[in-house]
Amino acid sequence: MNGWASFILRNHMEVDMMTRCNYCDNILNYHVSKSPCDEVLFESTSHIVTTTLGAFVEGWTLVISKRHVTSMSQLSVSEIQELSSLVSDVRKRVEQVYGSTVVFEHGSLDPGTNFGCGIDHAHIHIVPFEDSIIPVINNEPLDIHWRPLESLEDIATENKPYLFVIDREERNGVISNPENIPSQFMRRVLAKYLSIPEYFDYHQYSYEEKASATCRSLRYAFDYAPIQG
Ligand SMILES: [Zn+2]
Ligand SMILES: [Zn+2]
Repeated sequence: MNGWASFILRNHMEVDMMTRCNYCDNILNYHVSKSPCDEVLFESTSHIVTTTLGAFVEGWTLVISKRHVTSMSQLSVSEIQELSSLVSDVRKRVEQVYGSTVVFEHGSLDPGTNFGCGIDHAHIHIVPFEDSIIPVINNEPLDIHWRPLESLEDIATENKPYLFVIDREERNGVISNPENIPSQFMRRVLAKYLSIPEYFDYHQYSYEEKASATCRSLRYAFDYAPIQG
């Protein structure tokens, strides 16, 4: 393929990817979404912090990469460094309002697989949770083997789909590469723990009122002035 043809193909693929991605279209694209579930609470050089659709726990926030990659492991070293300090900072702010939190990412490397949570754009979940989540996950009938991740930067070496978790009151995370997990796996685990197993699916239950409450509580914690688009 000559250079010009590959340029056109590459651009076409990028546009196609953009039109299919809710985060690129609705949240990152000048913040056009009017849903409280997409409200931007904070913006750094490479990431944004938002509330989220289907958050059945108040205080649930996401850190989303500005660049369209499918997992945080595909970010550059400097982007991961920024992500690492941002996640600690967001956690502190959320915890001041809502108490202890757990952090997780469904790291799917290929778009459209069951492994992710239905969004093929890198994002990390920060969820208020009063208990240790690892024993709760280990209760699931799955073969999950955890390895400690000394620093978030080490995530860049992952070349298989992964589940990344930082437990309550921990600074560093653990990672595993389970063969197969159901889609929205962590939502299922959290909803089951909270005795609302049928409400895990964000396609069915948007929980917009909880996202609005999260925005009202955290807007001041982040002191963020939205860009007028
Ligand atoms: Zn995207
Ligand atoms: Zn997710």
